[in-house]
Amino acid sequence: MVAWSEANAKIEALQTVESLTQYLEGKKVYSFDLLSGFSCPFAKECLSKATENSEGKRTIKDGPHTKFRCFSASQEVQYTGVYNRRKNNLDSLSKLDTKEMIKEILAAMPKDVGVCRIHVAGDFFNEKYFLAWKESRFCLVNSWRTTERHGSVESVTIVAEK
Ligand code: SF4
Repeated sequence: MVAWSEANAKIEALQTVESLTQYLEGKKVYSFDLLSGFSCPFAKECLSKATENSEGKRTIKDGPHTKFRCFSASQEVQYTGVYNRRKNNLDSLSKLDTKEMIKEILAAMPKDVGVCRIHVAGDFFNEKYFLAWKESRFCLVNSWRTTERHGSVESVTIVAEK
């Protein structure tokens, strides 16, 4: 089963965004994350991956064009729980079709989610996964954001349906 993540310090700041406060009364900010690099089809200058050897030791592997190392891939090398959760999310979803993905994501959704940042780590790895979020029962509060770094849609903030 996939897992959502509690807000880190950076996205906790969404609590202070005036337009979001209506969704956060008694509710919290979460993120939904995937393994960095492995889920990022358009990553180029930021591409890094946490790779694991047969003994379970993880090291960072940069891509052929990396200019700035992905911070979330570095976290995945450092923290086993973070690596396992993001890897499990990607492995679980990549086997499913869009309807199954929606079911899986919603089944794991915390009851007190008010706002979710999709992808503190990771990206929309295929069209089926993109559609899973688009067709799920959420209200998008900011448009798909294009990253300056590599031009892909990397992250979205959503609000749980009221
Ligand atoms: S797209 Fe984001 S998560 Fe993926 S490698 Fe680049 S910086 Fe990391």
